Parts: sequence; C-alpha cells; structure tokens
Amino acid sequence: MPYIPLTPLRRTLAALVLTALALAAAGCGREGSPPVKGPAGSELPAYVVARNFTLPASPTWERAKRRGHLVVGVKEDQPYLGEKDPASGRYSGFDIEIARMMSAALGFPPSTIEFKTIASANRETALQNGQIDYYVGTYTINDKRKKLVGFAGPYYMAGQSLLVRTDENDIHGPQDLAGKRVCSAAGSTPAQRIEAEYPRADLVTYDTYSVCVDNLLTYQVDAVTTDDAILLGYAAKVPDELKVVGKPFSEEPYGIGVPRGDNALRFALDEALAVDEKNGDWRKAYDATLGLSGAPVPKPPPIDRYPAS
Ligand code: GLU
Repeated sequence: MPYIPLTPLRRTLAALVLTALALAAAGCGREGSPPVKGPAGSELPAYVVARNFTLPASPTWERAKRRGHLVVGVKEDQPYLGEKDPASGRYSGFDIEIARMMSAALGFPPSTIEFKTIASANRETALQNGQIDYYVGTYTINDKRKKLVGFAGPYYMAGQSLLVRTDENDIHGPQDLAGKRVCSAAGSTPAQRIEAEYPRADLVTYDTYSVCVDNLLTYQVDAVTTDDAILLGYAAKVPDELKVVGKPFSEEPYGIGVPRGDNALRFALDEALAVDEKNGDWRKAYDATLGLSGAPVPKPPPIDRYPAS
C-alpha cells in the first residue's frame, strides 16, 4: 500500500476538513449547509424486551446469559449506520438499532449491550473466537463468508457505489476508474470487486472508510468506493465537498453475522427480524437513522433462512 506523506498544505487542508466534519457532526453547519439532522432519542422506537425468553440450543445465547449482557460488534465511523459519539461514547445509527431490536427479542434490555467496534477485515475472526455474540455493521452476506460465519437476514439491500469530490467531473461509474486512485476498506466486498473486475483502477485500502474519506477530501485519492448507504452518509455530512455518482453496481444484502454453526441463534434472529419488519419497528428505526441521509426508502429484502449448517 503506497504511503503518501502529508505536505504542509495537505496537512492544513486535512485539519480544515476534519474541523468541518467535526462542526457538521456537532450540528454547527457552516452558512448555507443544511442543518445536521440526527436521530433524537424520542423518535426512536422503544423495543419490547422478551420476557422469560430462553434459547438453550444456542451456545452463544447461553454464554451471554451467564455473562449478563450481549457483546455486539459494530462500526463506529459510518454516519447514520453505526456511529460513535466521541464525547459520550454512545453509538447510533440504523445498524445499532437493528442490534438493539435483536437484543430485545433475545431477552436482553438493549441498554445493556456492550458495543465493540470491529473493522471489516476482522469480522470473521471476531465471531470465530467469541469476541462478540453477533455483528451488525453493513455486513454483506455471501457464500464465501458463509463458510466462516452464519448470517441472519438480510435486513437491508445496499449496492456498491462511488463517492467523489464535487469538483470531480470525470468519474461517473466504475468504468471511469482506470488510472484513478480508488480507496476502500480492506477485507470488504467493494475492494474485492474493484480488484477482480476493474484491475486498471489503482486500489488503496485502509481499515476504515472514514480514512478513505479524509484522503478524498485532501486530494490523495480520486474516489472512495463502498455501499451507497455508507457513502450517502458521508456525502450528507459535507454536501458542498462530496457527491455520490452513478448507479449502484452490485447487490450487497446486509446480514447479522453470528458464529457459524449456531443455527438456533441465527433462526431466532431471522424470526425477530420478521416480527420487527411487521410491527413497524424496522421502518421507524430506518426513518430515524439511515432515512435521514437521503438513502432511498427500501422494502426490506426477503429473509433468507437457509438450512442449518
Ligand atoms: N457491505 C460490504 C462488505 O460487507 C462493504 C461494507 C463494509 O465493509 O462493511 O464488505
């Protein structure tokens, strides 16, 4: 991975950009920028905690019960999806709400969840070595990953897209990436797709997409690629600087990662998702989180419920 040192100008730019992002996040948008909307606690549904729920067939659930709370893997730098407030340490976003809904269905008050930030490249290991009970963080279900972990869901359908600076006029889709520096997260399906299908693009990977976005704003890369749901969140924070271009060029069904072989947990989560999609909680959570980024309002995709493995 090439390392580009920050020149003094770049350093100043980076500092300005970080300040702009911090101000936007704090709700003090510059003149002319739209007010920053974020989920107010009152708009989020309160999930009903299942009483007397037990799941003896799930070793993960049994271990959590003994521990007294769930440990859930998430992202912390993906606006409207999984975001951690650095001041309070609180997590918010659509994935966080899905994690809370699932917790309630499993009989654990959502307020007791211990969230752990886990990067894209480390999800399978975290589930395999018992660091987390389940994972909710823009995690695409695919056959390769199903050999390593289990997936409940999907609960949302995203698609790979491109984020560029508003002053960029040459990139409209993946076909325009030849010779361009494109940034994505290590271990992600979008990075793998660029490598496999657009080998003439100059791919750079980091642990997180927020580092890619900093690099884009400081002219160190030409585009960031990952799911539209993630990119729309970054663009919504600094709409004068960033735009999402073109049409999504893949299908990324988001699943809840569970330890492979814990079919009881996987099926319980599938059932819980079906209930929350029906009772309106899924939609309320969406409207109060991801819906605010301008992501198109979806119909939840059909739940997979693939056979025990
Ligand atoms: N959904 C894609 C993936 O699971 C990209 C987003 C991410 O890295 O979390 O690889």
